Amino acid sequence: MSTIGWIGTGTMGYAMVENALQAGYSLRVYNRSKEKAAPLLEKGAMWAPTPAAAAAGADVIWTMLADDAAITEVFTGENGILSAISPGGLVIDSSTVSPSTSMAIGTAVAEKRAEFLDAPVSGSKPHAEQAALTFMVGGTQNAYEKAIPYFEALGKKSFYLGEQGAGSKTKLAINTLLGIQLLGFAETLTFAEKAGINARQFVDVIMSGAVRSGVVEAKAGKMIDHEFSPQFTSTLLLKDLKLAQRFADEEGAYMPLLAGVKEILRAFVARGGADDDMSAIVTLFEEASR
Ligand code: NAP
Repeated sequence: MSTIGWIGTGTMGYAMVENALQAGYSLRVYNRSKEKAAPLLEKGAMWAPTPAAAAAGADVIWTMLADDAAITEVFTGENGILSAISPGGLVIDSSTVSPSTSMAIGTAVAEKRAEFLDAPVSGSKPHAEQAALTFMVGGTQNAYEKAIPYFEALGKKSFYLGEQGAGSKTKLAINTLLGIQLLGFAETLTFAEKAGINARQFVDVIMSGAVRSGVVEAKAGKMIDHEFSPQFTSTLLLKDLKLAQRFADEEGAYMPLLAGVKEILRAFVARGGADDDMSAIVTLFEEASR
C-alpha cells in the first residue's frame, strides 16, 4: 500500500489520518505541535520531524492546515515540502486558502515536475471522522484521476471542477453560503424563541419543509443546548469569509450578504467568540434580543 506524507493534524487532519490508516495506507505525519499527532503514532503512523521529512519519497503529500500563512510556511519555509518533492509526485492540499495561494503553490510544485491539486473539503469534524467529506478539486484531470482512490478512502464524494484554483474558488462560494445559512438560522431561531415557539419544534418544522438545510441539521442541537465545543471555529469561518470577500472584490462580484455576515461574525470574534464552534454566534442574537 502506498505511503502518504501528511502535514497537519488539527481537528480535520487528525480524523482524516485515522481514516487513511484504517484504509491501510502507510502514514508519515508532521504537525507543528507534536502532541496533537501523538495518539496517531500509537495507531501506526510514523512521526516526521519536519514537513520535508514527511514529504520525502511519499507517493502522495497531503496538507490540511489552518490558512494561507500556514500553507506558505510549510511549503516554502526551511525544511519545507518544496525542498523534498520528487519529479512525478502528487501533492494534495485540503486546507481552505485563497485561490491565489493555491495557484502559487501549484506553480511551485509544477516547477519540481510534480502535480498539485487544491482539494478543500465540505463537511466538518463528524464528516471527517466518518470518511464522509466532499472534496472540491482543481488541477489537471490526470492528477485528479490518480487521486480518486485517496478521496474515496477519506470522503464520500469528489468533484473535479477544472484547472488549478477551481477547488479553492468553489470552497469560498460554499462557505459564503454556509455563513449566510448559519446566521440566517441563528437569527430566526432567536426570533422563534422570543415569540414563544418551542425551539425543537421550530427545527422540526424547518427540516420538514422547503427551507430544510444541512447547516440547520448540523448546528441546531449545538445552538439550542449552548454546546459550543469546536467542530469548526468562528475564527476559521471568519477567515474564509474574508478570503471570499477579497476574491469577490477582485472579480467584481456583488455580494452584500457576504459583507453583512462577515461584519457580524467579525464583531462576535472580537468580543471573545474566536475559539468556540461557529454555532456560538447564536448568543450574539440572543443577547441583542434581551
Ligand atoms: P485546526 O484544528 O485549527 O488545525 C489547524 C492545523 O494547522 C493544525 O495542524 C495547526 O498546527 C496547523 N497550523 C496552523 N498554523 C500553522 C503554521 N503557521 N505552521 C504550521 N502549521 C500550522 O483547523 P481544522 O478545523 O482542522 O481546519 C483545517 C483547514 O480545513 C482550515 O483551512 C479550515 O478552514 C478547513 N476546514 C475546516 C472544517 C472544520 O469543520 N473544522 C471544515 C472544512 C474545512 P498546530 O496543531 O501546531 O496548531
